[in-house]
Amino acid sequence: MSTAAPPAATGKKPHAVCLPFPAQGHITPMLKLAKILHGRGFDVTFVNTEYNHRRLVRSRGAAAVAGVPGSFRFAAIPDGLPASDADATQDPASISHATKHHCPPHFRRLLAAAAAPVACVVADGLMSFAVDAAREIGVPCALFWTASACGYMGYRNFRPLIDRGIIPLKEEEQLTNGFMEMAVDWTPGMSKHMRLKDFPSFLRTTDPDDVLMTFQLGEVERAESASAVIVNSFDELERAALDGMRAIIPAVYTIGPLGPVAEQAAGGPLELDAISCSLWREDPTCVAWLDGREKPRSVVYVNFGSVTVMSGEELAEFAWGLAGSGHDFLWVVRPDVVRGDTASAAALPPEFAEATRGRGLLASWCDQEAVLRHGAVGVFLTHSGWNSTVESLCAGVPMLCWPFFAEQQTNCRYACAEDEWGVAMEVGDDVRRDAVAARIREAMGGGEGTKGREMRRRAEEWKEAAARATAVSVANLDSLIGDVLLSGK
Ligand code: UDP
Repeated sequence: MSTAAPPAATGKKPHAVCLPFPAQGHITPMLKLAKILHGRGFDVTFVNTEYNHRRLVRSRGAAAVAGVPGSFRFAAIPDGLPASDADATQDPASISHATKHHCPPHFRRLLAAAAAPVACVVADGLMSFAVDAAREIGVPCALFWTASACGYMGYRNFRPLIDRGIIPLKEEEQLTNGFMEMAVDWTPGMSKHMRLKDFPSFLRTTDPDDVLMTFQLGEVERAESASAVIVNSFDELERAALDGMRAIIPAVYTIGPLGPVAEQAAGGPLELDAISCSLWREDPTCVAWLDGREKPRSVVYVNFGSVTVMSGEELAEFAWGLAGSGHDFLWVVRPDVVRGDTASAAALPPEFAEATRGRGLLASWCDQEAVLRHGAVGVFLTHSGWNSTVESLCAGVPMLCWPFFAEQQTNCRYACAEDEWGVAMEVGDDVRRDAVAARIREAMGGGEGTKGREMRRRAEEWKEAAARATAVSVANLDSLIGDVLLSGK
């Protein structure tokens, strides 16, 4: 039985406990959803890991996690990894293993000791242990899948790929001998254009017990045990994949694109603006620098998100590709983007600054949504993380894709395929300066320019579709609240 009644019964606010997976691309959308719930009358407890909580205090100051007394509070649970004061993204395999095995008892204790009775739990789709924890105290648990629906179906289809003996791979050589090019046009809910290499990267293993492959498959398969699954996407964008999800999961609520939905649901600028869960401090000069560009759509914006790492050689190829493109650029070089380095910008070739003087800005982190909305940005060179992809579509900005891992490969395929979203081109796994420069020029409309123009046209169409989806998603969100979060079951 529910330990908390809906507000109408008691006159008190219902209490939602929000549990993100401890990585930036998960924390950001969960915080947006948590703020919406607060705006819709919930008291909220937002649960970070102790590692990320400390990082937030260091990078944003205590105000970022001070909350609002009594109605929006932060809590922290240990993640079980060795204590560290590093300001770097935690290794995905270690954090997946640690959250699954270490966090559950701490989360249960937190629920039991909550200052106010808990009405519902909203947990990341990769924190599915929360379903059982919520059930034990008799409250509903909605899982928030913060990535794409095509990514969800990509993971979900690991099972038939295993059953057919395609994965795990038989030998390492299959990664390079053309095997990954195999057409896979039979998987439910997926594009007919899928090749094996377009599925989430965690199938690129010969180990049947690979941590990331088994973790992701286990988590997506547990989704149907939740009271509902929330997806940061919208039907016009991902109809087939969402239908695929609905065929398996009884209650699926699309609430994307989350940025515009959050603004509309709050009825204007968000309350709780001071609360931020950006694990790095934004460089305020980025938007001012863009303001200073004279020509609209003249800047290449480059950002590989919060987890991507690359070699120093790959960084140099991107650098010389940007230099050779002849275009202005804003490049966010995260301090830990070069593998094993904590001051990655220093790994750039010394001549690069000279070669691009006056036409480039380097930063270490930015307010990405503001950058993408800026009229000076012409194309986004991205790792195809889902938040970045949706933010780019919402802003009508075409993309160049260099997917790193997880379901980014799948997002990239959908973004590039002309009969899917048709807004992007691939840079190619093996990054080469000439190819980077050529792709940038093509995307920015140089040369013959037809591909670049077509991508821009499609991006504008998706921007309009995203705006249309917003009202539907706000309505879905209210159904989710009424039918699930306040249902008491
Ligand atoms: N982000 C940001 N500033 C940056 C880089 C990233 O605000 O300089 C945000 C971005 O807007 C997005 C999130 O961090 O919301 C990254 O999530 P995504 O799913 O794109 O990729 P991930 O970091 O999980 O690989």
